[in-house]
This record gives sequence, structure tokens and C-alpha cells, in this order.
Amino acid sequence: MKPEGNSFTDRGCPLCESRRSRQHVNVNRRYASNEYELVLWKCQDCGFVFLRNEIDIEYDGDYLEREAVITKGDPYAQFIARERVSGIARVVPPEPGKRFLDIGIGDGLLLHLAEELGYATYGLDINADGLRLARSTYGIRAELSLEPMGDAFPGTQFDVIHMNEVIEHVTDPMPLLNNCRKRLKEGGCLVIQTGNIDSVVSKIRGRSWAYIRPVHVSYFSTKTLLHAIKESGFKPIKWMTLDWRLQSVVSQAGRLLKHGQAKGGLKMMTLYLTSIAHGMRRSVVVYAT
Ligand SMILES: [Zn+2]
Repeated sequence: MKPEGNSFTDRGCPLCESRRSRQHVNVNRRYASNEYELVLWKCQDCGFVFLRNEIDIEYDGDYLEREAVITKGDPYAQFIARERVSGIARVVPPEPGKRFLDIGIGDGLLLHLAEELGYATYGLDINADGLRLARSTYGIRAELSLEPMGDAFPGTQFDVIHMNEVIEHVTDPMPLLNNCRKRLKEGGCLVIQTGNIDSVVSKIRGRSWAYIRPVHVSYFSTKTLLHAIKESGFKPIKWMTLDWRLQSVVSQAGRLLKHGQAKGGLKMMTLYLTSIAHGMRRSVVVYAT
């Protein structure tokens, strides 16, 4: 299956509809034993970077394997997901009846943790194999759907809508964000994590930045992501490179050291410390209401 709204059109900027775009970078990438030419354009008005040529990627079981979304037994993935759910719980406390929607559920780890905290959980994905994997791996009880956001869970309003590494796969992010706005309750929380094309690592790597891949069609920066969510009627609460807490990082690094994984512990600390300067690391995370 393909992401919602992914169709090739020779159109203007997907964020602001401006026709003043210029070619930004042109690279070749190998993916799933195919060679792709990726032509990225940059809007001269809002700065958004987007892929303009058509790329055909199947989101299926092979995709899950290729992208290594399997988190069972991966302490690093578990840590990241726990920090995310804790961060959300500080904004929207998990009381009974609070609805938590994860768009792009991976193997269901985040929904599993949200369930443990007591949220009523919902999951949306385009990959039927992913839904099966989430049920078998974590036994999640969430209501799951393969429908586009505009049609899924009709009549249901959510207290939390979460998208981790999803929006960069969507050719038309604005209809998706507008649908999220319609479905998020007043005072609810939207959380988005995606790559940051203005990050230091992107600037240093240039055309060889690993995030430039055939599966990624929308390349946000902190500026363009904030612009897009404001245009959809959201109010940003906070934005950062990583939403980890210092005390969690220290105790996780300590655990790794204790188990003879000094390299892993050092990596965690380095990631955290370099993320203090916004834009240093590859990602941007936005919490909005
Ligand atoms: Zn634009």
C-alpha cells in the first residue's frame, strides 16, 4: 500500500502552493535492489524541500524487515519510546478514557507503552503486515485501521495524536495535518518527529546525508514544520532535537556501563549532549496543541 495522498503531480509547493521552486539537490540512491534518481526541489517562498519525481515504494512485510522496525529486545528503541510516551504524559496525563492515536505504528512498541500507562489506544498504518506484527509482538489491544486519516475511526476525537518518522513519507502533508487538527480535542497534544534538513549533520553531509532516501518525499526543517502546523491551526508548545530527560539518559547510560556496554552508554550521553544545541542532531520534534 502507498501513503495517503501520494501521487505525482507537477504542482507547486506542498506547504504554501507557491510556484517559485528551484532544484535543490539531485542524487542517486540504491534501495531494495533498485536504483533511484531523487530530485529535491526547494520552495523559494517558504523554504520547504520536497521530492518532485515519482517514486514507487511498496509498504509491506519486506519494508518492515528492510527498515528494521523490530524493537523487541532492543533496549535503545525501548528507551526512546519510553521517553516519548513520558513526554506526552506530562502534557496529557493518561486518565481513563483519554484517547491516544499513533499514526505509523511500526511494530506497536509505542502503543504498547501508551496502553501500559492507561490510555485508550488507536493505531493507523498503511502496512497491513505492520498491524499483524504489532498484535503478535506486543499483544496490543488498540483499535487499528488501514484507512486514510480522513476516514479512519469516524466520529472519534483524540487527546493525543503522535507521528514518529511518518510525515516525511507523505507527499501532501497539509491535508494530513488538517485532518489531525479536526480530530484533536481542544487542549489535546500533537507530537511530530521528522528529519531536519537544516540540521548541522545535514549541512555537513550535504548530498550524501543518509536521510535523503527514496522513501522520504517531504524534507522539513524546524522552520517549515512549525510553519505547516501553524497553518493547520495548531499552536506549538515546544520543539527540540530530542525529547529525552537528563536523569533518564544518565540512568540508562549507567545501566549500559554496568552491563559492559560502555560504547552504548557513551553513545547515549553524546547524543544527549550534542542535542542540547538545537539543530545539531538530524531530527526535529514538535509538541503542539
Ligand atoms: Zn512553499
